[in-house]
This record gives sequence, C-alpha cells and structure tokens, in this order.
Amino acid sequence: MATDPRGRLIVDLGAIVANWRDLCALHAPGKVAGVVKADGYGLGAGPVAQALRAAGCDSFFVAHLQEGMALRDALGPGPMIAVLNGFRPGDDEDAHLTPVLNTLGDVRDHRGRRAILHLDTGMARLGLDAREQAALAEDASLRASLDLAYVMTHLACADEPAHALNDTQRARFTQAAAMCPGVPRSLANSSGLFLGAGFVSDLARPGCALYGVNPTPGAPNPMRQVLRLEIPVLQIRDIGAGETIGYSATWRSSRPSRIATIAAGYADGYLRSLSGRASADHGGRPVPLVGRVSMDLITLDVTDRPEITDASHITLIGGSGCTPDDLASACGTIGYEILTSLGARYVRVYTPA
Ligand SMILES: *Cc1c(COP(=O)(O)O)cnc(C)c1O
Repeated sequence: MATDPRGRLIVDLGAIVANWRDLCALHAPGKVAGVVKADGYGLGAGPVAQALRAAGCDSFFVAHLQEGMALRDALGPGPMIAVLNGFRPGDDEDAHLTPVLNTLGDVRDHRGRRAILHLDTGMARLGLDAREQAALAEDASLRASLDLAYVMTHLACADEPAHALNDTQRARFTQAAAMCPGVPRSLANSSGLFLGAGFVSDLARPGCALYGVNPTPGAPNPMRQVLRLEIPVLQIRDIGAGETIGYSATWRSSRPSRIATIAAGYADGYLRSLSGRASADHGGRPVPLVGRVSMDLITLDVTDRPEITDASHITLIGGSGCTPDDLASACGTIGYEILTSLGARYVRVYTPA
C-alpha cells in the first residue's frame, strides 16, 4: 500500500494559463476574464486566479459573495472581482467587489457604485427581464445614477452553434444595451467564444474552457487538459472465475481475475453512475472499472496488467479515455459536473505556470 493513501489532484496551472492565452487570441480585440466560481470549478479558485492574474488577467467572476471575499484575499487589490449572484450594498465590506445587478431593485440599491448590469435575453434565470429593461430605458435619471463597468447577458445555447436562440439573444442584447451608450459589453462564455466574430464583445467570460472542458461539443477539443487525478492502489487480489465484486454483486468474473482496489469513491465526487461504464488509465492504457463505485473505494480489473501493483497509482480522471468529458458522456452529464464534484479529500498539487 502507498505511503500516503490519499488521491492527488494535480492541476497544471501552465495549461490553464495557456488555455486563457488561446482564448485571448481568439477574442481579440476583446478582453477575456477568468470565471472561477465554485472554487475554480473544483480546481481551487485562489491558485487558478493567481496564475491568471500573473499572466495579465484583470477581471474575475465568482457566483457568491463569500467566494468573492475569499478571492479578494487571494488576489489583493486591483483586479475586478464580479459577483454573478449579486449582494446587498455594503456586504462586501472593504473587499471592493463588483455586484452584478440582476433586478431593477438591485439597480436602485447600488446607485452610484461601480457595478455590472445583467440583461436577461433568453435564460429567464437572473438579469433584468424585458419589462424591467423597458422601465430602465425610460428612467433616464436612474440610468444616470449608475456607474457601470459592463452591461452583460448570458447565452443559453452557445454550445449548439446552429441554435436559433444564439442570434436571437445577440440581437436582443444589442437592442437592450443601447440604453447604456458607451458602456463596455460582456457576452460570451466559453462556448460563445467559438461562435464567431459576431459574438466578440469587450469582455468574454469563459470558465470551463480554461479548465480543459471541450467548449465545442461534437468537434475536437481545442483546449489543453489541465488536471490529473492519481489514486493509489490499496490492495490487489486474485479471484476465481464466476466470483462477484462489490455491492449488489453487479459484476461477475468470466475467468480467474486480478482486481485492484483504489482509494476513491463517490464521496470524492466520482459519480456512482459511472459504475460499469468507465475506465481509468495506467501508462496511457485503459483500466476498466468493475463492480459498483462505493463511497470510498473503486475496483478495477487488472488481470492483463501485471505491471500494476499495490505500489501503483491509477489515473482516475484526466488520463487517456477518462478526461472529464469522457466520464461525463459515459454517465450522461457534462464535464462541468465532473469537475465541480471533485472531492475535498484529494490533495491538490499545483504545477507552476
Ligand atoms: C458560469 C458562467 C459563465 C462561464 O460559463 P462557461 O460555460 O463555464 O464558460 C459565464 N457567465 C455566466 C453568467 C455564468 O454563470
């Protein structure tokens, strides 16, 4: 058994920075922010944002006030930290966060203070709806009281380039944002960056593409992989033909088999629905999962892999055949959910940019 039985999540900050630079080139002359909500999609908002900051990124987005406060501590003064879910005036204390104004009430509350105005154009989630937009367009004195860093909207179907809603949202945004002449605009998320020149704005807001999730589903992934999750083997055992493995005895060996048990499970965010559907990686070759994923353990068939021993580490996520996108498609979710589920028990190791 390995000396430290915890999994190691190795995050390649250089690859994240290289992904950001590629997106900057794609989006020029517009700028590119870093979206680091949900603890940097599970990879660690502080280290990720510090690496992007050192590379020249000066705008960051989080979802919650508390994420913004922690990020200000990590980054220090200077860069814009915008809070997508908004917050009450004063709640950011002296962290100088930038609220995203999602309702007409938010607009009134944050008069005179640097903010981002969010216009909903087709998500029906956050942002001023069409009725509130019309009211604001008619209220010149309320608009004059605003100090807007950006006016933004969010695309619902950017990962489907042929979807009609993309152009509809862009047209609605152009029309609605006209009430804020001279205010810079923010439009594309990761996938939106790949929709062409019509979706270039002053500030793009990519998240997933920075972290290596494919922003162009169905086409080859233009981004670099950024993480590798290495899990130590705890035990290897031999079983006979016809024996079963794990809860509910879902897998039965057809031949005498060698089974490796590794130290991760669904409590670490490796989804139980991947049972029987996924493989891990060792030495660039797939190692199939067998039996149920349990809370803290996963079993692998290593019958044909004598080089794997109880001193080995298995690449559970981020290797060949087990990228976040591979695992997501194996169990019917998206790479985002694989990343944001990454557990707290892994040791996070950062390779410098
Ligand atoms: C999460 C989020 C983003 C980033 O989206 P990705 O698809 O990960 O690039 C951008 N804008 C808003 C409003 C978001 O909520």
